[in-house]
This record gives sequence, structure tokens and C-alpha cells, in this order.
Amino acid sequence: MIRVAVIGASGRMGSTVVEALAAAPDMECVAQCDADTPIASENLAGASIAVDFTTPSATEGNVHALLDAGLHVVVGTTGWDESSLSRVREQATLTGRNVIIAPNFAISAVLAMHFAALAAPYFESAEVIELHHPNKVDAPSGTALATAQKIAHARGAAECAPMPDATTSDPLGARGGLVEGVPVHSVRLRGLVAHEEILLGNAGEQLSIRTDCFDRVSFMPGVLLAVRSIERLPGLTVGLDTVMGLV
Ligand code: NAP
Repeated sequence: MIRVAVIGASGRMGSTVVEALAAAPDMECVAQCDADTPIASENLAGASIAVDFTTPSATEGNVHALLDAGLHVVVGTTGWDESSLSRVREQATLTGRNVIIAPNFAISAVLAMHFAALAAPYFESAEVIELHHPNKVDAPSGTALATAQKIAHARGAAECAPMPDATTSDPLGARGGLVEGVPVHSVRLRGLVAHEEILLGNAGEQLSIRTDCFDRVSFMPGVLLAVRSIERLPGLTVGLDTVMGLV
């Protein structure tokens, strides 16, 4: 049995992880920590791996404390930047423990991004539309941002010509936000959860790649896969692509 501690266990994602661990035949949730539980060995009950779904302001400190306590760490909390990632990379090397940080654990979203990057060099035009519930405070979504960046890098590596677009007047920003030259559009609509569509166009043909997450249980197969894989992935791994063998 893999002994797992959940950090942020009473939160929306953390409590879903606790339920997923209870249903997994090879894992056991041995510790549940929240903001008022210090990350110290007496509260970690011999766990070998921790899963952190907390807050952007808390997560880096948690990861350092967990590495120092000798645990591998799977992180779903968002808000990481290059400098916080490099500090964790260094600490993981020093402690000999492993960290997986994935901004999106939904298998369908990870595959959609991967397929979009594979397809991007073969199409003249590519645009990303992300659609979410109206309570989401940031736009575009982190996943749409990452998707557009992957498309831009794939097109750059293939030396694609700029996308055709004759627009000269757009006072309302109706053409969307440009992420490294790739237009990204955000829809906020009551009834939606988390969705993304990537449109790729050539003369006479279109490829649409779409991912729909209807519930936060959609993240759990990715989280459990990361927990099962972390022992064999030394240091810091960012994103689920490596875990899924896509790179
Ligand atoms: P949430 O419901 O607000 O839960 C956050 C939890 O973290 C709460 O239980 C809170 O405890 C706890 N917490 C806060 N500070 C802490 C600390 N210093 N140490 C330990 N626990 C602490 O948030 P959520 O909706 O579950 O989302 C959590 C994070 O996951 C967000 O960053 C969100 O963007 C991200 N997320 C990622 C994915 C993905 O696929 N990677 C998917 C969905 C969400 P108290 O209640 O005691 O304050």
C-alpha cells in the first residue's frame, strides 16, 4: 500500500482526493492536513507521498516542508512561476525526493494540449476557446494559456508563416487575447464547468479538439497516476506529459 498524506484535505479538491484514495486498492490516506495542521512528521503518520491542493500562497512552503520531512510531493495547486519552480527543483535534488507539479490533472485536457501541439504545424490557423463557469476569476484559464504556448512553440519550431488575419480594426477586442501570436477567447457561461476547444484550419478543412470536464472527479485519475509514478521520476517534473509518457 502507498501511504499518502493529503494537504488541504478539507478543501474542494483535497476532499475529492481523500475519497479517490479511499477507493484506490493500492493506496491508503494516512494523514489529512489543513491550514491549522503544521507539516511535521507527527502529523504525517509515516506517509511516503503527499498530495497538495491548497492555495498559491501556501503551496511552495508546504512543498519545502514536505521534502524536508522526507516525502515525495504531488502538487495540483496553481500559481507557480519559474523562480518558485527552480527553488523546488534545487530542494528536491538536495533531499533526494521527487516532486510532480501539474497545473491540470485532467487526462482529457493534457491529451488535448498534446494533440493540439502535434497538429499545429500542419494548419495555417489555430485559435483556442476556453469556456468556464461564471465564478472563475481569472481569464484566460491557465490551461488555455499553456495550450496556446504549446501551439506557438510547435509552429515556431516548424517555422510556420504567421497566421492569416486581415483584421485591422478591433476596438472591442473581439479577436481575443494574443498569446505568443495565438488568439485565445474566454467564455463565461452559467451551467458550464471547465471546457476547451482548439480550432485548427486550412483551406477547405478544419480540425476541432475539445475537452470537457464536468466534475472535479475528472482530475482524480491523473492525481492517482502521479502518485503511482512519482518514485520513478527523479527531481522536479512539471506537467503530466512525462508521467503519461507523452514526451
Ligand atoms: P479550496 O476548496 O479553497 O481548498 C484549499 C484548502 O487548502 C483548504 O482546505 C485550506 O484549509 C487548505 N490550506 C490553506 N492554506 C494551507 C496551508 N498553509 N497548509 C495546508 N493547507 C492549507 O481550494 P480548491 O478548489 O480545492 O483548489 C485548491 C487548488 O487546486 C487551487 O490552487 C486550484 O486552482 C487548484 N486546482 C488544480 C487543479 C489541477 O488539475 N491541477 C484542478 C482544480 C483546482 P482551511 O480551510 O483550513 O483554510
